[in-house]
Amino acid sequence: MAEIFDSHSHYYNTRFDNDRKEVLNGLKDKGVGLVLVAGCDIESSKKVSQMCRDYNFVFGSAGVHPTDSIRVTGDYLSELRKLFSENPKLVAVGEIGYDYFYDTPKEIQTKFFREQLTLAKELDKPVIIHSREASRDTLELLKEFKPKGVVHCYSSSTEVAKEIVNLGMYIGFTGVITFDNAKKAKVTAREIPLDRILIETDCPYLAPVPFRGQRCDSSMLTYVADAIAEIRGISREEVIKASYDNAIRAYEMESLI
Ligand SMILES: [Zn+2]
Repeated sequence: MAEIFDSHSHYYNTRFDNDRKEVLNGLKDKGVGLVLVAGCDIESSKKVSQMCRDYNFVFGSAGVHPTDSIRVTGDYLSELRKLFSENPKLVAVGEIGYDYFYDTPKEIQTKFFREQLTLAKELDKPVIIHSREASRDTLELLKEFKPKGVVHCYSSSTEVAKEIVNLGMYIGFTGVITFDNAKKAKVTAREIPLDRILIETDCPYLAPVPFRGQRCDSSMLTYVADAIAEIRGISREEVIKASYDNAIRAYEMESLI
């Protein structure tokens, strides 16, 4: 049976403080082979790096999330460079991007986004993009910088998704795709090529139906795979296999596993 690659998670979140080890060590038996843990600021990126050392199936990203950028001071780029130089299991710069849902000033978001897109070029690493209610501005910077990588938790239009795919990037779908009102995500998951689709939890957030509202973990991705399988008229197995291989390619992990 194909193994699941959870391409985006936040296992350092406090909601796992009581049972993090048990949850992570239990994943293998539930069919989860690999997990990417995404950093949101310097502190969480350091935790990610440590988790990469503690668990052989965990890989990570380091970066500053747009809504966290307002709190980040000092020479954060040097701190990120140091983390990357110390740990080859940090495979991507992220999550970075734009978030217009919260009211973080746009000029600060733009500064951090542009600086980290430049860092990814310098390090020759893929990026993990967070874009919420900001698809036009995000796409503009992606067209300018042409990074490698993933747009995670995809929520914009199918047209924008096709442009992202044409730039060579990948699209991540979360448990949101199992929600009745996720019409755009469902259409997008049907219209873009299967070889660009990743599945992800974004856990502890965004648990799929029938666990909606509960704490999410990577074992719940079978429900995300089922939703995409139904939309595309293929099997769960095919979705899990394709998204696993896609994530390895997207994060350039071929030589690391
Ligand atoms: Zn995330």
